Amino acid sequence: MKTLVLIDSDSLTRTLISECLTGKDWCVLEAEDGQAGLDLVLKHRPTAVICDLRTPKRNGFQVCRTIREQGTLKTTRIILMTVSRFANDRETAFASGADDYLVKPIDPADLLRMLDVAGKNGETPVAETAAPAVVTGPTLIRFWGVRGSIPSPGKETSGYGGNTSCVEVRVGDQIIILDAGSGIRRLGQSLMKEISESGLNVTMLITHTHWDHIQGFPFFVPAYHPRVNIRILGYEGAVHGLRGALFEQMQTAFFPVGLNQMATHLTFEEMGDMEFDLGGSVKVRTMYANHPGICLGYRLTTPNGDIVYMPDHEAYERCEVERQKAEKETSPTGLEYARVQDEKVIEFLRDAEVVIADSQYDAIEYPSRRGWGHTCADDTVQLAARAGAKRVYLFHHDPDHDDSKIEEMVAHAQQAATENGSSIKVSAAREGETVLLDKNSGA
Ligand SMILES: [Zn+2]
Ligand SMILES: [Zn+2]
Repeated sequence: MKTLVLIDSDSLTRTLISECLTGKDWCVLEAEDGQAGLDLVLKHRPTAVICDLRTPKRNGFQVCRTIREQGTLKTTRIILMTVSRFANDRETAFASGADDYLVKPIDPADLLRMLDVAGKNGETPVAETAAPAVVTGPTLIRFWGVRGSIPSPGKETSGYGGNTSCVEVRVGDQIIILDAGSGIRRLGQSLMKEISESGLNVTMLITHTHWDHIQGFPFFVPAYHPRVNIRILGYEGAVHGLRGALFEQMQTAFFPVGLNQMATHLTFEEMGDMEFDLGGSVKVRTMYANHPGICLGYRLTTPNGDIVYMPDHEAYERCEVERQKAEKETSPTGLEYARVQDEKVIEFLRDAEVVIADSQYDAIEYPSRRGWGHTCADDTVQLAARAGAKRVYLFHHDPDHDDSKIEEMVAHAQQAATENGSSIKVSAAREGETVLLDKNSGA
């Protein structure tokens, strides 16, 4: 017997749907409001949920989002229903995580067809993946996209690469992808060769939904493969949820294939906690970056050392110094506050093996770009050095910086760090480059 949670404040609709399912192998649990419905969902983990859009306490969109935040309810099929025909509501329903959308009055045949899919999904929970085994092998980092803002292909950038943010991290069998900028296209092609009979599991951590961090996603071929499970984690943006932003960039005005046409085993988890476990041997800590909107830095703890990925962040102190200069203001309190914020970042980077961080500008460019949410390379290296990090990779290169400019920036930052007595190793992230961390070999 499959379980269905039915949420609607209208008792007539509830009766109609319940009658329609009588004798059809469904156990129907009813709720009059969104909160009561969610309580039932969390308790009974149903195969399907039917929820009216305008329910008291928690509306249908909120119910969808909350269910989708539960990593353990990946295969639960959600059908949102409504009395209105606004196209926008329909789109928002899918963006919130609904699988189907019904307009009242309900046609029992439509309903049964949608539930039939739910039953089948329930029997073959493709997305349920076993927890990755704890591993002891080396940790691998591979850069697929290192550029900020917009892809910048060309002769002048071919050395470091023109694709936007995407980094692959491997810990044993576990595949973790940091951001889905245009670099993810080639990573996707490479992963296609690894899909076996038992499928492939991928975890994606998104720092924020600015375009340069998600624009490659529609071109990530494994997402269209039926045996690939993709778990996407991130934080709710200022305006759109994580899924909403990925959904919108695939709407017809922008892309010929919709997010819902991708494989069904794509799950979204909007995180609230600043620390979580990815299973296997990887733990994650996050920190809000100083960047427009909601943007995070990720710190991955692996058996071979910690990796910090903070692609978009503006260091506080220099920002405040330049602000006071520009506004002809003297505020020791403001400066002190900024320093304290930088100290928090240093704590976040503390003793990391590898720091991959925003270094979009040099010290000369920075003042005219203050408040854009990006850091001067000197500060990135200085903060990482003060944190005792072993190596730092300049990342999120400015699209206007050619290879020789980036080389100059590395040389300058390395010299400054060495002169300050730091042993940190400075490099610029380069597309295609692989970094191996192996405690056993000391690499
Ligand atoms: Zn960016
Ligand atoms: Zn950004």
